[in-house]
Amino acid sequence: MTKNNCSFCGKNDKNVAVLMEGADAYICNECIERAYEILYGKEKSKTKSNKNTKFRITFEDILKPEQIKAVLDKYVIGQEDAKKYLSVAVYNHYKRILQPADDNDIEIEKSNVIMVGETGTGKTLLAQTIAKILNVPFTIVDATVLTEAGYVGEDVESILSRLLQVADYDTSAAELGIVFIDELDKIARKSDNPSITRDVSGEGVQQAMLKLLEGTTVNVPPQGGRKHPEQKFIQVNTKNILFICGGAFDGIEKKIANRLNTRAIGYGAINDKNKIDNNNLMQYVSHVDLKSYGLIPEIIGRLPVLTYLQPLDRHALRRILTEPKNAIIKQYQKLFAIDKITLEFDDDVLDYIVDKAIEFKLGARGLRSICENMMTDAMFEAPTKQDKKLHITLKYAEEKINKINANKLHVA
Ligand code: ADP
Repeated sequence: MTKNNCSFCGKNDKNVAVLMEGADAYICNECIERAYEILYGKEKSKTKSNKNTKFRITFEDILKPEQIKAVLDKYVIGQEDAKKYLSVAVYNHYKRILQPADDNDIEIEKSNVIMVGETGTGKTLLAQTIAKILNVPFTIVDATVLTEAGYVGEDVESILSRLLQVADYDTSAAELGIVFIDELDKIARKSDNPSITRDVSGEGVQQAMLKLLEGTTVNVPPQGGRKHPEQKFIQVNTKNILFICGGAFDGIEKKIANRLNTRAIGYGAINDKNKIDNNNLMQYVSHVDLKSYGLIPEIIGRLPVLTYLQPLDRHALRRILTEPKNAIIKQYQKLFAIDKITLEFDDDVLDYIVDKAIEFKLGARGLRSICENMMTDAMFEAPTKQDKKLHITLKYAEEKINKINANKLHVA
């Protein structure tokens, strides 16, 4: 077998759209389709590859912003502002892509979104929940893997490769999709002054990403990764792709505070009515702060909708344990129910888990690790025991959790 040739038909990757690599073989998209036909028949294979069948939408199908938010409410605790902004952005995205082609008078421009908030406050969860309710292709990518073209890492075009993959390589569907770019703050310029040394994973990537956000036709390597000269590209126009970015922007509060304090001293000082809430500066985040943080103005200009996520307090963490549709506690109860065991927790156990998450500074991400450590023995023993009821008391929880070392609690 030669590298870059389909192991089944022998075609070179230059002559096919996609060449997938397996453990010890390659297969091209044409052979995949043929195999699909053998397994499921020609008709089924035809409908599958019919353009836009999977993602066909009509205006009647679309949820209205309040309905989108109602779904988000089921999964995400708090974060009212972010939910509202996202619901509107997604709804407008649908309206834009469904506007009649001949209606050339007013073109609705897209409004890409940026969400700023500490890690573990629900940015990814919001994006994932949005994905559940959408019928446009949707993908989540991590900005940290991207580097400027020519350097080790992935080119920004790989973002679109992922979108093409979820759209089953249906370019016209991918061109109406939504991309969530996580950890955008990690490609911020390292200092406010453009430096002489190259900032491979910073400004260069922002410049490259700018093209995508602006709306342009991009040559996309179908399988992502690095571009290489002999590769066959798929052209994707990003004009109608909605980009939602997220980032923790660690330390941005300082920039916000500086800006607010300067304003407070000078003309237009904030009066009592608009008193600054120093405990939650994130709510005042503005595009100016993103610039001070190291995003280039052109990128900021392409992310007109800016929203923030609140840090999660004790009350929110406690709600996260039990309230969301797939809350952690509900998940354990379901796990035990499969073995026909009823699992109950005393209320003070739940408070204790929250206290520990705060003590270990793990926030919402830590809730699961703490529960996992607390429940491992029970999950190990219960299925073989006769008892069909398991009641977790504070004493039991303390005993299990006291045994663990904070360092052991890995947080994904
Ligand atoms: P981020 O992307 O902001 O770093 P995530 O969305 O990945 O954070 O959150 C990590 C985990 O914490 C999620 O899987 C979820 O279980 C929980 N979580 C965080 N914030 C919330 C929230 N507001 N409501 C419900 N669960 C949350």
